[in-house]
Amino acid sequence: MSNTPNTPPVGDEIFLLKMGEMVLKGLNRRTFEERLMGNARRRLQKHGKFRITSRQSITYIEPKEASCDMEGAFETLRTLFGVVGLSRAKACEKTPEAILETAKTYLRDDLMEAATFKVESKRSDKTFPMTSIQLSQYVGGELNEAFPHIQADMHHPDVVVHVEVRDFAAYVHANPTPGAGGLPVGVGGKAVSLLSGGIDSPVASWMMAKRGVALEMVHFFSYPYTSPEAKEKVLELARLLTPWTGRLVVHVVPFTQIQEELRRSCPEALFTLLMRRFMMRIAEKVAQRVGAEGLVTGESLGQVASQTMQAMAVTGQVCTLPVFRPVVGMDKEEIIRTARKIGTFETSILPYEDCCTVFTPRHPKTRPHLDEIEAAEAALDIDGLIQAAVEGIERVVLDP
Ligand code: ATP
Ligand code: MG
Repeated sequence: MSNTPNTPPVGDEIFLLKMGEMVLKGLNRRTFEERLMGNARRRLQKHGKFRITSRQSITYIEPKEASCDMEGAFETLRTLFGVVGLSRAKACEKTPEAILETAKTYLRDDLMEAATFKVESKRSDKTFPMTSIQLSQYVGGELNEAFPHIQADMHHPDVVVHVEVRDFAAYVHANPTPGAGGLPVGVGGKAVSLLSGGIDSPVASWMMAKRGVALEMVHFFSYPYTSPEAKEKVLELARLLTPWTGRLVVHVVPFTQIQEELRRSCPEALFTLLMRRFMMRIAEKVAQRVGAEGLVTGESLGQVASQTMQAMAVTGQVCTLPVFRPVVGMDKEEIIRTARKIGTFETSILPYEDCCTVFTPRHPKTRPHLDEIEAAEAALDIDGLIQAAVEGIERVVLDP
C-alpha cells in the first residue's frame, strides 16, 4: 500500500481529537493546532507511524501501518493537553448500507446500554448521494428497528451516533472520551519548576503544563543529608509527569554546601527562608540559561511557616521573573485529590527525607522582615555559593 497523503488509512480505525478553547482564539488558532499536532506526533512515535491532520478544530489521527499500537496510542492521547474529547472511529465504505452496518456492529455495546440516541451526520464529500439530514434519518430509522429498546431523542440523547463522510471513507463513532483539557504544551511559553519530593510541587507543575507551559525542572539535592533514594524519587516524580509534559529535563543542583554555610552563619529561625531564597536565585539562573520566562513552586498559602504571605514576599523578592504558585489557593485535600488523579501521590508519600525537612528550624519565623533577612545574608558570599551550585548541576533527561 502506498503512503501518499491522500490514500485511505491502512487500519480501519482512526482517532478524532476535538480541540478545546483554543478554537476561540482567532489568529492563534493555526499556531495552536500546529503545536497540538506536533505534540501528538512526538508522543505517538513509540506506537508506530501515524498521519496527523487538522480540519475545523478536529485533529484526525490515522495509522499508516498495520502494526500501529492503537490501544497504546489512545491511552497516550488521553494525556495530551489541548484536547477536550477524543473518539475512536471506524472507517467504512461510503455507502449508506456500509455506514449503517458499521454503526450496528461497531457501536453495538454503546447502543445496548443506552435508552435514547440520535444520529448526527457530516459530509465533506458533497458528491455523496444523500444530504446529511437524509443520512441521519436513514441510519436513525434503521438503528431503531435493529435496537427496538432505544428511543430517538434530539435534545438529551445518551448516545450520539456520529457519521462523517470524508474524501476517502466514511467514519462512525459514538460519544467522545473526555480529553486532558487545557492548552497544548508550548503555546504558553516556558518556565522552570522547583520540584521537591513532596505532594505539592508535582501538582503545581502539572497545572502549569495544563495551561500550555513547557517546563524544565530544578531539584535541590543535599547529599549526604538526603539519600540517593530521595533523588531517585524526585526523578520518578518527573518521569510520572512526562505523559503530560513531554520530555523533561531535570537540573539536579548540589545544595549541601549552601545549607551547611547557612547553618554555620545564620540564625536558625530564618533558616528555611534563607534556603528558599537561594533556591529561587538558582532557579532563576537556570531559567536564564534555558530561556524560561517564569518560575513555578508548589507553595500553598498558610500550609507551613515559610508559606505565609510575608514569607512568600521575602522569597519571591530575590528574583525578577514572575513566580507562579498554582496551588496557592488549594486545600491540602484538593491537592491530594489532583495528585491521585495524575498518578504522583503514591510516589510523593514515599518516606525519603527532603533537604528542607532535614534542616527544619524548631521555631521558624512566620512574619519575616526583609532587613533582618538581608542582615543575615550579609555574612555570606551569595554569588560564590550560587556559582558553585550552578557549576555542579547534573542534567537528567526523561522521556515519556
Ligand atoms: P512540596 O509538597 O512540593 O514539597 P511543601 O508544602 O513541602 O511542598 P516546602 O517544602 O516549603 O513546601 O517547599 C515549597 C516549595 O519549594 C515546593 O513546593 C517546591 O516548589 C520548592 N522546593 C522545596 N524543596 C525543594 C527541593 N529540594 N528542590 C526543589 N524545589 C524545592
Ligand atoms: Mg516539601
